[in-house]
Formats: sequence, structure tokens, C-alpha cells
Amino acid sequence: MLKVAQMVILFMSTLYLSLIVVLFFVKKRISNDDTEIYKKMLITNLNAIIIEFILYMTGNTSLVKEGLGLSIFLILSKLFVGVIVGWFILIAKYTLLICDKARSNKLSTQNKKKLNRIINIAYIIVLIIILLLPVEFILLDNGATGYTQGPATMFAAALIISLCVFMLIELIRARKKLNRKEFTPIIILLILMMISTSVQSANPQILLFNPVMALVMVIMYFTIENPDVKMIEQLDMAKTQAEKANKAKTDFLSNMSHEIRTPLNAIVGFSECLVEREDLNDETKEFAKDIVDASNNLLEIVNGILDISKIEANKMEIISKEYNPREVFNSLCKLVIPRIGEKPIQFKYTYSEDLPGVLKGDVAKLKQIILNLLTNAAKYTDEGEINFNVNCINRMDTNTSLLYISVKDTGRGIKKENIEKLFNKFERIDEDRNTTIEGTGLGLAITKSLVEMMGGRVNVFSKFGEGSTFRIYLEQEIVSMEIPEVKTEEIEIDYKAFENKKILIVDDSKINLKVAEQILKPYNFDIVSVESGMEALEIAQSKTFDLILMDIMMPKMNGIEALNKLKEIPGFNVPVVALTADAIEGTDEKYKNAGFDDYLSKPIDRYLLNKVLKKFLK
Ligand code: ADP
Repeated sequence: MLKVAQMVILFMSTLYLSLIVVLFFVKKRISNDDTEIYKKMLITNLNAIIIEFILYMTGNTSLVKEGLGLSIFLILSKLFVGVIVGWFILIAKYTLLICDKARSNKLSTQNKKKLNRIINIAYIIVLIIILLLPVEFILLDNGATGYTQGPATMFAAALIISLCVFMLIELIRARKKLNRKEFTPIIILLILMMISTSVQSANPQILLFNPVMALVMVIMYFTIENPDVKMIEQLDMAKTQAEKANKAKTDFLSNMSHEIRTPLNAIVGFSECLVEREDLNDETKEFAKDIVDASNNLLEIVNGILDISKIEANKMEIISKEYNPREVFNSLCKLVIPRIGEKPIQFKYTYSEDLPGVLKGDVAKLKQIILNLLTNAAKYTDEGEINFNVNCINRMDTNTSLLYISVKDTGRGIKKENIEKLFNKFERIDEDRNTTIEGTGLGLAITKSLVEMMGGRVNVFSKFGEGSTFRIYLEQEIVSMEIPEVKTEEIEIDYKAFENKKILIVDDSKINLKVAEQILKPYNFDIVSVESGMEALEIAQSKTFDLILMDIMMPKMNGIEALNKLKEIPGFNVPVVALTADAIEGTDEKYKNAGFDDYLSKPIDRYLLNKVLKKFLK
């Protein structure tokens, strides 16, 4: 009866162990230290079961009663004990590794190798001792089965108990760092082992080791060693790492762009001052103008890199505002004419008559998109025409206007095979022909991303050597069909208008202060410059100003903190304009929300500066 029960248990454990072995080896799995140990444990467990079967089948037969048969049988019994000890060594090593991993990998790869070597040598010694020590195979009276007894078994039992104690200590030491999924199967194993060891020592005829070991293997397979879960964990880890790296890259790029903008501010600022100086000869002024142009190109590149990194980091937000499309498109045309320069190109623009008077959408992005296309047309066309057309389909039921914006040129055109590459970032086409034209190959990649982010589409038609047409389809909300009266802004700078107005400039960089002072010099302001938020607070309490220009990134007290403190001064009502190299899209809103009256980016654009001055110093 006992023999049948034992056989059934053994048979069942063989069955589920085999199933796990098949699953484990068939499935794609990752290979790391603990999975490798688990693999060895599976194989060891399988070996132990096979040996136990042989012992079972032959233990009661005349084959092993005496002579060579008996000797082989006893060696096999010792081997069985040795294999079981081997399995325990493996699980102890497994426990050690996962506890070490939980304690953030204190063992170096070299130490792990050393440990492996020591364990292997120790195991060989243990095996030799077991083989040398005598063992007895006790056949039960009823002839059902038998068990091994004697010094070899005692030695093995002592080793197994020590290994269990070691595992327990390791688990207790790492319990806070281990997650439940890792902790549970090993604790269950230890409890099962303790139960089976005590059952076995009281009733040596009940052999429980193999079934318990197989059960532990199954539990482990479905918890810590599940290849699918491990793979997901690995992927998760890789994903987190990639995200971290991407974030580091974005941070680096935006820091770098900030760092580049600050010296550029000085370069552009001073060169612009030189261009306007009466006492310089034309050649010097020409050089200064070239410096301004080159710096502006550099600025464009920095902005492009910043945009692309923001797009990739999913940090671009849609910021909708109401705008007058005619006014916006006109301002873009004004910007592109200087880019055409002296080239024999006719620039024409038409807007459909039913173009609504006021639309709502992300006008900053729309401007960037159209400006990219117009600038490209100007860059890659040597003669002929550039046509900028805006058509629309208005849907009054949904209050939307579908804009069809096209930029058509008679430029060099694009080869058919290059059209696909056009929107790839950093991809420039006909590099050899482009050498004289500045560019990074980012413009169209940004354009496409922005258009798609806004729910639109962009496409290209081009004939090599004849010209290209870029079209954008974009839906915008209609606010009003009525065309608002356009206030014609005087771009003419009236330096006399603000004479003797008091201006406070706050910036921690001396060179930036000098640039601002130089730019503001022709206005004849009464300028006070300070190098920190604290100084600004002090002086604002004793002196009244008409306008404050405040840098944002300053040590100790940044611009926003300084602004908040200023606002705490009773009766303070001086307009404060943020002045910063942080020129990321959406910054405008950010600073206005923070309480600034307006925002100017560095390098300071004269036109925008004038607008701001007019707004606050009337
Ligand atoms: P960049 O102009 O900085 O090189 P873009 O992404 O704006 O980068 O353009 C990618 C490439 O597409 C350009 O290098 C140019 O070869 C080609 N391209 C863009 N617009 C035109 C155009 N209107 N006509 C001819 N080629 C163009």
C-alpha cells in the first residue's frame, strides 16, 4: 500500500516537473544569473527523481541482494543523497543572489565568479565525502520499499539543515528590500522543507524530498521564474532606462540651448549696436551685420534642436489662442522677404476672401510651420516665383475652418526618390548642392510633427528642376467671420518718446546687463542695473521705476521669486517684464501666468522690445 502511495506521489511529481521542464526549455527566456541556477535546479531535481525511481524499482529485487548488484545499488543511494544536497546548494545560492540583488547588487561580478568556484569545489568535496561514508539501505519489513540510513545520510541531513538556516538568515536580512513575489516562494519552500524533514526523521520510510522539491520548482516557475514575467520585467527595466536616458538628453539639450543663448545674446546685442553706430565705416558695419546674421542662424539651429527634443519627449503642448489670420500671414510675408534678398524672385500671396476674420488655434505653431515652408522656398529657389496661398472651407455647423495653405516655388525641386526622406530629421537632400545653404535638416521634420500634432496633414508635389509645392491642411476653430480692424503697428523706432523714463534691469550676468544697457542706450532712459533679486527688492523700495526688466535664472533668488517679493511691497504697481534665455515655446504664457506683465527672450529682438516699451511706457 505504502509503496503504491509513494509511487503515485513520485509519479505525479515527475509528471508536473516534466511539464515545467518542457515549458521552461521551450519558451523563449532571458538568461541571467538566477534563471541559470533555476535551470540547474530543474535538471538536478529531474536527476534525483530518475535515481529514486531506479532505487524504488530495484530495491526489493534479488538483483541487489549481494555482490556487484548491491555495491552499485549502494553507490546509487549515495549519489541520490548527493544530488539532493546539490539541489539545496543551488537553492541556497539562488536565495543568496536574489537577496543580494534586492540589496542593490553588493556582490561584484568578480566576487560572484569566485563564489561560484568555491561552491563548485565544496560540492565536489561533499560528494566525495558522501561517497566515502558508509550508507545502509533499510528495506522495510513488509517489503514495500526502503530508505537510506547511516553516516552518509546524517552528513547530508546536517548540510541541508545548515543550508536552510543560511537561507532563513539571508531572507530575514533582506526582507525589507525583497518584494513579496520573491520572498513568498522561498519562505514557502523553507516551511515545506522543515515539515518534510521532520516528517522524514520521524518516519524515515516516507520519502518526501523529491515531491517537495518538484513542488517548489512549480511554485517558483509560476512566481519568480516565470519566463514571461521575467521578460516583461526586463523590458520594463529597459524601458525605464531608455526613458531616463531620453529625459537626460532632453534636459541636456534644453540646458545647452539656454547656455548657448546667453552668449549669443551678447554677440547679437553688441553687433546690432555696432551696425547702428554712426562713427563706424561701412566695412565694419557690414562685418557687424554678418555677425548678426550668422548668430541668428545659430539661434535658429538651437531652437530647432530644442523643438525636436521637445517633440520627442512629448512635451509639446497645443496652446490655443484667438488670432487674426490675415495679420499673422502678413507678418510672415514680411519676415520672408529679407530671406529672398536680392534674388530675382517674385513673392506673391493671396488669401481666400472667405477666410474668417478671427480663428482660434495654436497660432505660434502655425507661424512656425508656415515660416519653415516659406524660408525653405526662399532658400532653395534662385529665380522665378514663390506663391503663398491660403484657401479655406468654412463649416458653420461645426464652427470650423479647414485651411489649405500652400507654398509653391519655382526652385530646384526634389527628386522623386528623395521625397520620402524629406521629413526625416537631420536628413538633408542633395547635400553637395546644399553646401552654400544653411540648414540642419530639422525644419521639415519639425513642420510635419507640428502639423500632425495639431491634427493636420502636410504633403509635397515636386518636379526636379522645376519647383515644389508644399501643402498643409489644418482645421481651426472659427471665432468670428468679421475681419477686425488691423492696427498698423509702427515699426519705426521713436527713440525720443521715452526720454528720462526710469528702467530697472535685473540680471546676474554682467555681460547681459551691459548688452541690455547698450540696446537701451539710444532711448535715453534713466537706467539702473542690479545683479540680483535681493538688490532689486532693495532699490525698488527706495526708488520708483516705470519698468522693470527681470532675468529669470538667477542664483539664490530667481526672477519669479523676486517678482513675488516685489508685489508684496505696498503700493507696488510697476510693470515687470521677464527677460530670459528660456525661449521654449509656451514660455510666453508661462511667465504671464507667473505674474509677469510681458516676456522678452534673449537675444533681445528690437522689434519686440519696442512693442513692449510702447505698451508700458506710453
Ligand atoms: P534644411 O532646410 O535645414 O536643410 P529641412 O528639413 O527644412 O532642412 O529640409 C530638408 C531638405 O529638403 C533640404 O535640405 C532640401 O534639400 C529639401 N527641401 C526643402 N524644401 C525645399 C524646397 N522648397 N525646394 C527644394 N528642396 C527643398
